Amino acid sequence: MSRYDYVIVGAGTAGCVLAARLSEDPQMRVCLVEAGGPARHPFVKVPALVGCAILSRRFSWGLMTEPQSALNNRRVFLPRGKLVGGSGSINGMAYHRGHPLDYDDWAAAGNAGWSWNDVLPYFRRSENNANFRDPAVHGVDGPVHVQHIPRPNRLNRDFARAFEMLGGYSQRADFTGAEREGYGLRQGTIFQGRRDSTATAYLHPALKRPNLTVLTRAQVHRLQVQGGRATGVVLRSASGTETIEADREVLLCAGAIHSPQLLMLSGIGPARHLEGLGIEVKAGLDGVGANYQDHPALQVNLEMRDTTSYGLSLRTLPRSAWNLLEYLVARAGPLASNVFESTAFVRSPESLDRPDIQIPFQPARRNPTPFPLPLGHGFALSVVNLYPRSRGQIQLASADVHDAPRVDAGLFSDPADIAPMLWGVRLVRRLIDTGAFAQYHAHEVLPGRDALSDEALTAYLRRAAATAHHPVGTCRMGTDAGAVVDPDLRVRGVKNLRVVDASIFPRIVGGNTNAPVVMVAEKAADLIRASHTGV
Ligand SMILES: Cc1cc2nc3c(=O)[nH]c(=O)nc-3n(C[C@H](O)[C@H](O)[C@H](O)COP(=O)(O)OP(=O)(O)OC[C@H]3O[C@@H](n4cnc5c(N)ncnc54)[C@H](O)[C@@H]3O)c2cc1C
Repeated sequence: MSRYDYVIVGAGTAGCVLAARLSEDPQMRVCLVEAGGPARHPFVKVPALVGCAILSRRFSWGLMTEPQSALNNRRVFLPRGKLVGGSGSINGMAYHRGHPLDYDDWAAAGNAGWSWNDVLPYFRRSENNANFRDPAVHGVDGPVHVQHIPRPNRLNRDFARAFEMLGGYSQRADFTGAEREGYGLRQGTIFQGRRDSTATAYLHPALKRPNLTVLTRAQVHRLQVQGGRATGVVLRSASGTETIEADREVLLCAGAIHSPQLLMLSGIGPARHLEGLGIEVKAGLDGVGANYQDHPALQVNLEMRDTTSYGLSLRTLPRSAWNLLEYLVARAGPLASNVFESTAFVRSPESLDRPDIQIPFQPARRNPTPFPLPLGHGFALSVVNLYPRSRGQIQLASADVHDAPRVDAGLFSDPADIAPMLWGVRLVRRLIDTGAFAQYHAHEVLPGRDALSDEALTAYLRRAAATAHHPVGTCRMGTDAGAVVDPDLRVRGVKNLRVVDASIFPRIVGGNTNAPVVMVAEKAADLIRASHTGV
């Protein structure tokens, strides 16, 4: 059969949620199309192998940004999951929702129905929280399991102690509660020692439904748009090129890079850009590909001889063998950890109404060159600017879907984004200087203690800054002329077509983006059902 009620493009974080929710109605025929393969490999399942999943070409689109002029013209690594579960199958599993005021800002910008009070029920509906059961804030029987790492590395205690010794910051048990500023252990989307993505939490339990079809290794080449209406998709798989028709809607969930790419390949986007590539314009929408935002990140990296941290070394081989055995037998121990076990949310100027910096703590050394597992010992603290002002954009490289789109992430194109990062690096050094980590005799290898001045730290930033891999905003929701989708996520000017993924964020939220994308998809499922059935 190649006719469905809904055709969903991309089985990523959002696509898996939508496929599961829309197929709950047995009358609805749902087809989910994914370019990548299944998510059953140990790299994807075992939390501590997250680095292997991120670096493996098998699970990723292998993208880099365009040369970033503020970063010495470096191309910056841009991992995007290409498998069932999408980026949620290769991500760091950290669970955060952003700040409530972020969503109130979305609503104030004209997006009725997206305030914190509006979206909170969808966060709750998606969540099964093992540690926090307050029903006003948390879900306890939703699909996605959320929990603290059961046996965090001892260095996390020192991270907390450093904040305590510094003073002025509160220990935070729950970063999703009413108060979210402070430091503490963070939660992850991990269940029984395994990654819990929307593939495992939503899609896999729904696979037995006869009204749900999942096509993997099937790349959508373009959407079919006829008479101002999306009628289906054209895809290519091992069995050749075919058209799949959508009687009700096409739902684009290909993520912040590929959703704008597919819209543009289908003639929906900035008219001049499309005409320049010989693509027939079906709907001129200048906002497609614009408003690209990501969280810039910079590491302070310390090395030590002490072997308390996670890491591979000759001296810890017996311990590593034991860890492996423990995981194989009980799915417990360090391999059941996503490594990013603690974090802090802080305000760089006190005057801000919400934290603007996140300091994730990693009880493992950062490798100097890409290698999926930490070699040797140490620890790293990142500085993440949660509300960058810089904006980038995505354009097509050609009219061929196989040519990766050009992603100009625009990192630090607004110089105002630099100062909060330097402030963060100095805060990290103050934490280290409290002496909380003194027993490890660790030394700072990056940026290195000779980098003291603003100039030296800025030079380090230009050499080393990357991102937290949270691109959003490229099919922005809104009601103004630059918006791509309306607050019901309908593409403006094209019927029967919605975008449901990270690209609809009007503005990036102050935290990791996976749970917010799940929320978007849960809310979209309600919007879609209501528009067809009136309930
Ligand atoms: C390395 C990394 C670490 C991260 N760490 C965290 C973290 O710790 N916590 C957190 O909250 N967030 C994290 N994130 C961000 C989070 O995972 C993403 O925001 C979220 O997964 C985005 O969901 P999405 O549905 O918008 O897109 P995706 O999950 O990327 O899904 C898009 C899907 O569409 C498919 N697709 C694309 N083009 C086509 C096509 N033409 N045809 C068919 N299929 C197509 C892709 O293969 C993919 O499966 C991380 C992301 C990455 C990459």
